[in-house]
Amino acid sequence: MTTTFRPEVAQVLGRARLTEVLTAHIGGEFTGLGRGGWVDVDDPATGAVVAGFETSSAEVVDAAVRNADEAYRRWRGISPAERGRLLAGAAAAIRRDTDLLARLECIDSGKPLSQARADIAGSARYFEYYAGLADKIHGETLPQASGTFAFTRREPLGVVAHITPWNAPLTQLARGVAPCLAAGNAVVVKPSEMTPLTSVYLARLLVETGLPPGLCNVVLGAADPTGKALTEHDLVRHITFTGSVAGGRAVGEVAARRIIGVNLELGGKSPTIVCADADLAAAAAAGAQAVVRNSGQSCFATTRLLVDRVVRQQFVELLAERMAGLSVGHGLDDPDVGPLISDRQLQRVASFIDSARVEGAQVVIGGDQPSVGGRFINPTLVQDVTNEMRIAREEIFGPVQSVLEFETLDEAIAIANDTEYGLSAGVFTRDVATAHQVAERLEAGQVQVNRYIGAGVEVPFGGYKNSGLGREKGTEAVHHYTQVKSIIMDIA
Ligand code: NAD
Repeated sequence: MTTTFRPEVAQVLGRARLTEVLTAHIGGEFTGLGRGGWVDVDDPATGAVVAGFETSSAEVVDAAVRNADEAYRRWRGISPAERGRLLAGAAAAIRRDTDLLARLECIDSGKPLSQARADIAGSARYFEYYAGLADKIHGETLPQASGTFAFTRREPLGVVAHITPWNAPLTQLARGVAPCLAAGNAVVVKPSEMTPLTSVYLARLLVETGLPPGLCNVVLGAADPTGKALTEHDLVRHITFTGSVAGGRAVGEVAARRIIGVNLELGGKSPTIVCADADLAAAAAAGAQAVVRNSGQSCFATTRLLVDRVVRQQFVELLAERMAGLSVGHGLDDPDVGPLISDRQLQRVASFIDSARVEGAQVVIGGDQPSVGGRFINPTLVQDVTNEMRIAREEIFGPVQSVLEFETLDEAIAIANDTEYGLSAGVFTRDVATAHQVAERLEAGQVQVNRYIGAGVEVPFGGYKNSGLGREKGTEAVHHYTQVKSIIMDIA
């Protein structure tokens, strides 16, 4: 580990009042409790330790959940309109603190500053959207014989556990927590042990803006003991898990045994089909954008570009030119591509590039580290990839793009669907009929046509196959965070 500690980092942490030891945030306060051992939090770009926290033991998790349960019982009685007003206040506070939150996220996750700012704006947007939805969550009246009246109510669940990953800590939190609170639940959040800073900051901010204490408690620690204590807690009535397939499977097993609901937002190996009639410059820009966003550490990242053989060479040249122009550096300097999250991730990404070479693919650009060292990998383009290669089958989570080729659209769709994942997929074509046909045949929860960026908060998101279970965002999310009660009355 290097000891380089940029003065700006200390300044940001100081302004955020996060320089001291972090502990669980329960009932509006830092509890000072840990008891589960010490964990360092580092700046991914330099490896320098920037903060640390006391792991929340099972006892601390118990205190967080019990406190949330008490808060929930008061919150569900508050009018939906008032709940919406309080969430709107939270959105405004997030927007006000954008600069600080973006810098925190940048130091914690390594993402370039402008991407972090976009994430904070996205987080505020979740709170705005669900603030507006809070007083529109309703049941229905059901046709019955005369003399009988039946209707449904959508009621909250209680305490919902939110377990989030390190690649987009605040947006992943906001995506789940905002609809949950709008629907009348309370939450206990466990952020990734690698990136707890903005989650803790937000928990305090919510209380400062008037949200009743206890509605959004945060516990800190790894899967074991903290995550497991949370998912196993009797008072937790639903789990929203965003992370790896392995983690999702483990959490899903707990939910099945406990007979509680679960949302699983897992990984991807997204294909994008580039047809011969496509705007190749736009498709190449999309291919490059996939490695720019979070240095390719993005769940929906396109990592399999399936290109019509007729235009493959031209496309590779365009993409290589774009990727070669990308800057790499510390997130605070706002480059195109930041660092990878950890030494482990760096080794993993490097191993994919090695395995591609061994299996016969060709590295067109990149494939190495910049001379400054650190946890950086130069944007890497690999061609002559086939769908059997490891690089085409497993989630890479790094700035590595692969080009595969096809001859017919049927073949392209077969390759695209030949994966255990189904989070996102795309197609570039100028033909409207082709766009519709391909979109229908791709096995993914989201299909992007002639574009590549995340969709707005209004658009449901979630995976087919091993990419997950359930849908977040939009009005869909509210269905996970409410349960339906049917009331039948004899009024004869
Ligand atoms: P991970 O599964 O290692 O960890 C995710 C979170 O779950 C962390 O907070 C971790 O501590 C916790 N956790 C893991 N196992 C657990 C268990 N058994 N019980 C309780 N908690 C547990 O994933 P990661 O490496 O942090 O994140 C990267 C993964 O997340 C990638 O696969 C990526 O595709 C996925 N992801 C998916 C989405 C989506 O919306 N689909 C969004 C972002 C990231």
